[in-house]
Amino acid sequence: MKEHFTSTVLGIPRIGPNRELKRATERYWSGALDAEGLETVARDLRLDSVRALQSAGLDSVPVNTFSYYDQVLDTAVMLGALPERVAAVVDPLDRYFAAARGTATIAPLEMTKWFDTNYHYLVPEIGPSTEFRLDATKVLGELREALDAGIPARPVLIGPVTFLLLSKAVGTEDSPLTRLDEIVPLYVELLEQLADAGAQWVQLDEPALVADRTAAEISTARAVYEQLSAVPRRPAILVASYFGSLGDALPALASTGIDGIAVDMVAGDDVIATVPALSRTLVVAGIVDGRNVWRTDLEAALATLASMLGSAHTVAVSSSCSLLHVPYTVDAETELDDALRSWLAFGAEKVAEVVALATALSHGRERVERALEESRDAQSSRAHDPRLSNPAVRERLRTIGSGATRAPAAHRRVQQEAALPLPVLPTTTIGSYPQTSAIRVARAALRSGEIDDAEYRARMRSEIVDIIALQEKLGLDVLVHGEPERNDMVQYFAERLDGFFATSSGWVQSYGTRCVRPPILFGDVTRATPMTVDWITYAQSLTDKPVKGMLTGPVTILAWSFVRDDRPLADTARQVALAIRDETVDLEAAGVRIVQVDEPALRELLPLRSADQGAYLDWSVDAFRVATSGIADSTAIHTHLCYSEFGAVIGAIAGLDADVTSIEAARSHMEVLDDLAAAGFELGVGPGVYDIHSPRVPSIDEIAASLRLALKSVPVNRLWVNPDCGLKTRGHAEVEESLRNLVEAAKLVRSET
Ligand code: GLN
Ligand code: ZN
Repeated sequence: MKEHFTSTVLGIPRIGPNRELKRATERYWSGALDAEGLETVARDLRLDSVRALQSAGLDSVPVNTFSYYDQVLDTAVMLGALPERVAAVVDPLDRYFAAARGTATIAPLEMTKWFDTNYHYLVPEIGPSTEFRLDATKVLGELREALDAGIPARPVLIGPVTFLLLSKAVGTEDSPLTRLDEIVPLYVELLEQLADAGAQWVQLDEPALVADRTAAEISTARAVYEQLSAVPRRPAILVASYFGSLGDALPALASTGIDGIAVDMVAGDDVIATVPALSRTLVVAGIVDGRNVWRTDLEAALATLASMLGSAHTVAVSSSCSLLHVPYTVDAETELDDALRSWLAFGAEKVAEVVALATALSHGRERVERALEESRDAQSSRAHDPRLSNPAVRERLRTIGSGATRAPAAHRRVQQEAALPLPVLPTTTIGSYPQTSAIRVARAALRSGEIDDAEYRARMRSEIVDIIALQEKLGLDVLVHGEPERNDMVQYFAERLDGFFATSSGWVQSYGTRCVRPPILFGDVTRATPMTVDWITYAQSLTDKPVKGMLTGPVTILAWSFVRDDRPLADTARQVALAIRDETVDLEAAGVRIVQVDEPALRELLPLRSADQGAYLDWSVDAFRVATSGIADSTAIHTHLCYSEFGAVIGAIAGLDADVTSIEAARSHMEVLDDLAAAGFELGVGPGVYDIHSPRVPSIDEIAASLRLALKSVPVNRLWVNPDCGLKTRGHAEVEESLRNLVEAAKLVRSET
């Protein structure tokens, strides 16, 4: 075995502690900063980060986890796999950004979620025109930069198997994996170049191996790593897995000549002791949770590590995955009470935990007695804090039991039609309207203290006046209040529920320069007072048309928050559901006849392994039903799911039992309606009838054609007319024109039925 290391993390945040990279990149895009200026900001950030890791005590430091946009795109560049359409952009940096975000004439790569996280990567396109060719400039540059600074640098790269499994085939039916023979030689060449540049270790990330993989795929992975480890002149190879268990892939990898394997001991449950071949490799134990924000129970972690050592393995301590998914440091938080603060570990604190554990393993626990004591104190403070446990909520949930239901849909329908008569093919929108500059100005003024809460509310009300007036003028049937008061569809609710707190600087990268500040759900969740009723009733007071209540569903609230790790997610989901349920009941009591509960993240939390998916779908559907079954049969529940490819979630949609479900459909030409029907869906449905992703205004004829197409799959009495979601991101003028055409198209098609 090569010289091994004892402590590391698999990757680090890169946006900058104060989002410096985001700001510099956006200034570069706008022309306010030149390429050199951007590179200076980037290099300073990189060096600051790796120096901090070294001085914290890590003896192997990841490099090349920096990215101007996305690490999968970086890999595509390294392998020469950018699509042909960006080739015309001469400058390499601009070409890179063109692939990431498009230009006026070039469509960007598709973006999708990075496994089950809230990070999004760019999907490489592999087809007949792809000619792979190695360009190791970035990784070699970042390696040299760190080695020159005296850092024990370990370059990190996406492995060949994961790279191809995450790519999509374009212009061919052949899966990208069939191109492995072409890229493995490039990795061989790369290993040689890294060795020449002085790398002792290289990390090849293969997270795709923790999802369901066929036996053929696993033996392909084995063959790849047999080949790579047979390269005579190369750094030691660490294959990193994260976000789950390797399962059968673990013995397969261990049987090759690689030097180390990183296993996720938080999300996964691989049993190291059952793989004898692992005694030949360094086991990099991902025991500090890289994805959540809680302080590690160091005593428990140490016990686990000690037992691994006991079975004669060589072990290094690590984070379970890249720290990309957590904020930089708890120190930046100004508004936490001492108890809360002591429970948390963000990026810097996790590095310190890794070092403490590694020190205890190699030099004895006496050396880190203080860290152990602080960890014990934090565990006990957290276990005893009254905010963590609210017996009243738990009792209420017990009485609701599982399997919350409403009366049969057909019965509800009769009641709802009597309570709220609507034309056939009713027209509506998904909730938000364009965010005007007045809204942004008001939000900033409220934050800076320039205006008070009352003034802020007055300004938001005036936005609502405009949005209602617009919808009346257009002649829509079911109106919305437009959501001007919502900074974000999850944060808004988290700020109003007990059991959550909002960080002041806890930014994490969502994609490119987009960062989010997920709320932290730490205790039992309760709703102290109504959260949306004032806004909706105000909107309703301005019109005789019905206004929909607008809420975010429990699964989405969990998916976009850091969740507690001391209770099953399913229990927490029910608590959030109960709070939303109370809100639906209050909305109904205030006269609201339709409540929309959005669940755009239902598919996002789906477990990576199919064996775990059934249980997830059971509890997530149950949570939605708890949230939506507290109201009368005459009140309609709508829901909204952002996408049209439901995959394994399709069967659950009927289970939600919402009276109307709106979905994205325009880009897939309504095909999703047949998928839904095939999955037994017989409720109301509102397929998006025009594509909102483009600024183009759809004509009346075009929308009417979409509706006629939809009517081939859905009976007229179940079909609603709405755009795809995302009005918020569009300009006012195009929204007005598009919706005018939508209303006209509905009238036209009504006259034909
Ligand atoms: N009601 C929300 C809106 O229209 C839904 C957002 C979403 O689908 N992500 O903005
Ligand atoms: Zn949506």
